[in-house]
Amino acid sequence: MTQRYADGKFGEYGGQYVPEALMPAIEELTDAYERYVLENEDGFMDEFRARLRDFGGRPTPTEYAERLSERHGCDVYLKREDLLHGGAHKLNNALGQALLAKYMGKERIIAETGAGQHGTATAMAAAHLDMPCEVYMGERDINRQRPNVFRMRLNGSEVTPVTIGRGTLKEAISETMRDWATNVEDTHYIIGSIVGPHPFPSMVRDFHAVISEEARRQVREQTGGLPDAVLACAGGGSNTMGTFAHFIDDTDVDLYAVEAGGSSLEVDEDAGVAPNSASLSTGDEGVLHGARTKLLQDSDGQIMESHSVSSGLDYAGVGPELAHLVDTDRVNPVNVDDEATLAAFHRVSQLEGVIPALETAHAFGYLEEQGGALGDSILINVSGRGDKDLEIAIEETAEHDIDIAPDMSEFAGGL
Ligand SMILES: *Cc1c(COP(=O)(O)O)cnc(C)c1O
Repeated sequence: MTQRYADGKFGEYGGQYVPEALMPAIEELTDAYERYVLENEDGFMDEFRARLRDFGGRPTPTEYAERLSERHGCDVYLKREDLLHGGAHKLNNALGQALLAKYMGKERIIAETGAGQHGTATAMAAAHLDMPCEVYMGERDINRQRPNVFRMRLNGSEVTPVTIGRGTLKEAISETMRDWATNVEDTHYIIGSIVGPHPFPSMVRDFHAVISEEARRQVREQTGGLPDAVLACAGGGSNTMGTFAHFIDDTDVDLYAVEAGGSSLEVDEDAGVAPNSASLSTGDEGVLHGARTKLLQDSDGQIMESHSVSSGLDYAGVGPELAHLVDTDRVNPVNVDDEATLAAFHRVSQLEGVIPALETAHAFGYLEEQGGALGDSILINVSGRGDKDLEIAIEETAEHDIDIAPDMSEFAGGL
């Protein structure tokens, strides 16, 4: 475990910008984080690791990617988080927090979800630990993400539609905060990325740090050394920080956070829309969801709507630790647009027999752009598998005319 910035201050970023009603919950959680996660009280971390192994399937492998290596003239290694139970890295955090809630004597889990990935990971963890779970989800997202809603219900979770505002993630977060403030005694709120007030950014990073702990060892076992560059896609930034955590002190290893360039980096201030989710590359400092960080906002400080072909990267903010690591030049923020991402989605599927999540495909898009210029040995975190993205991949591929894509006309009406 990294135990960095245990006080929740990442330079000028981070902190605890929450309403007074939430302070008791935040303080109780901070105390539990320090005792159980940082100090392994009552063997918490031992139980967490055992459950990640038996329920989650850890360790996930680090695989030498033969065709990508050949294509780029360098050694490419894939950290296969797509093989974790549930098909993405998200279980590391959901399971860690659900178990922590249990150690804290909480009897109920709540969470919010946008596309439904964090909601399904939380529902799995709650069922595994026999805890009741309620997931808030915008009504519009519920209608767009039927399979994930059904998955959560299959696991015994309640899915509560949020109808205020635009009915998406932003409103679902407000609703979950309200529930938490009302039910702090018996309820824990599982935040899904390295965002939110302290201790969430540090705690979520620590639960995901197992990714780089394993990958660093696995690459060394295979090559005798460390990679020259490590790439991970960044939405809120949890798989990113998990992949970087154990490499931060290896200053010869270059770290790249690959954001969603969307359709363009140009912003339409009047419409309040950024056609991308590149908050590390283009955002300004502000406060969102309880922390100071880099955000997509207009000149009046209003949060802008973001866009990405991948729902998991479609968020106006980013974790405060990543914002700090970018300002201090330890992490390079780069971005890849929707079209290059779709091309990478097809290319990696064909070359490696791995269908990556559209989020992950951004990192592969950057590999395609830079190739061997990144170094002789490159590690990429495969944050998740792409099975969840088939419908959108069909639609978007038709719109963008990706020349390496298979003929999809047969599926034009949907799967
Ligand atoms: C949710 C998700 C992401 C983005 O979340 P981070 O907190 O930025 O890691 C990336 N990849 C996959 C597969 C996801 O499900």
